[in-house]
Amino acid sequence: MELNFAPPAEVSELAHLVSDFIRTKVVPYEKDARWTSHGPTDELRVELNELARQAGVFAPHAPKEYGGRAIGQVARAFVFEAAGYSMLGPAAIHCAAPDEGNIHLLAHVARPDQREHFLKPLAEGRQRSCFLMTEPGGGAGSDPGMLQTTARLDGNEWVINGRKWLITGADGAGFAIIMAKNEGGAHDGHATLFLADLPDPAIRIERALDTIDSSFTGGHAEIEIKDLRLPSDAVLGEVGKGFRYAQVRLAPARLSHCMRWLGSAVRAQEIATGYARSRKAFGKTLGEHEGVSFMLADNHMDIHQARLSILHTAWLLDKGERASTESSMSKVVCSEAIARVADRSMQILGGLGMTRDTVVERIFRDTRAFRIYDGPSEVHRWALGARIVSGKL
Ligand SMILES: Cc1cc2nc3c(=O)[nH]c(=O)nc-3n(C[C@H](O)[C@H](O)[C@H](O)COP(=O)(O)OP(=O)(O)OC[C@H]3O[C@@H](n4cnc5c(N)ncnc54)[C@H](O)[C@@H]3O)c2cc1C
Repeated sequence: MELNFAPPAEVSELAHLVSDFIRTKVVPYEKDARWTSHGPTDELRVELNELARQAGVFAPHAPKEYGGRAIGQVARAFVFEAAGYSMLGPAAIHCAAPDEGNIHLLAHVARPDQREHFLKPLAEGRQRSCFLMTEPGGGAGSDPGMLQTTARLDGNEWVINGRKWLITGADGAGFAIIMAKNEGGAHDGHATLFLADLPDPAIRIERALDTIDSSFTGGHAEIEIKDLRLPSDAVLGEVGKGFRYAQVRLAPARLSHCMRWLGSAVRAQEIATGYARSRKAFGKTLGEHEGVSFMLADNHMDIHQARLSILHTAWLLDKGERASTESSMSKVVCSEAIARVADRSMQILGGLGMTRDTVVERIFRDTRAFRIYDGPSEVHRWALGARIVSGKL
């Protein structure tokens, strides 16, 4: 069998188009005051989306029926990496989390009427979305099985109660996908996903969390769900299959995080290299000092290994495989490699690296959070180790 690492011409062309768009149109917005500590505002996002539409690079992963190109995972690896060169890039071309993962989930699981009502405006960029799984204070986290939010049928309506937190993009989202545990009935104790329009007085944002990262529109919120009433057909997919659908979403969604953040690592390395080539100390450029050139070399190798890991998992997903082990491994490999690249790049930049005069400081902060969401490294290692020990791998 012949292995071919070269992307098809149309994928290379699209990735180049995106790369050019990000460098010429998006990077100039990086000093825009509308990029706040809670992410780029909706006003800024919409402005960037319009530029992306004009450049022909808007939402290439969206289903064709909604104006996208429905590109596969390998194509996404090239295109999303190009978008991630600026941390505003994913929001600009509409491939940012959680929307990108939610588009994927809805495209696979939603009924035709739900596609029309929720997926269409989301894929077309007229609406944002959020995914409500994690809970504060002893509820779902690394272990989703600790889910405490409940859903019970009352006549023809579901009644949902609970508390969620760290919910990305909740502020300003047009709808929520809520994970809750069935109370009573045939699926007692099983998790189900529900679709709810926002705003809804029963879904109250209690506070916007001040987090280390700042690249997601709508920030991250803590939310109270109190006596939310939804029609019986508000279920996404089948009752009791919430955990399974979360996996349908997560395997590709965590890989696309890897793709986007890899683009930011490339950017950090580019900035560090530029500095190492021009800044002098002790009679020569920093790059001529072995201690610095070794850091650049390690960055280069980390980026290369992360890219290869992404491509392999993407290839498996495109073949229709679940690739949950591989996406799990990619998530650990990439989140840790990218964090090392950001850290070394800051080190090479010296005092400049500690300032916001370059984007490296922001890349460092944002990529730190990536080692936690979509499963902390330890949880992936633990699950992988258990599969090895039990002979499943
Ligand atoms: C920026 C950001 C955005 C997020 N966005 C969303 C969102 O949109 N929607 C959503 O539902 N959630 C979201 N999350 C939540 C995220 O998915 C959780 O933070 C993550 O699953 C970990 O859960 P936890 O924070 O409760 O950590 P805990 O479960 O409290 O775990 C804490 C630590 O314990 C260790 N640990 C846990 N289990 C094991 C184990 N088996 N072996 C070894 N060590 C272990 C790990 O080091 C882990 O970091 C987001 C989180 C962040 C930081």
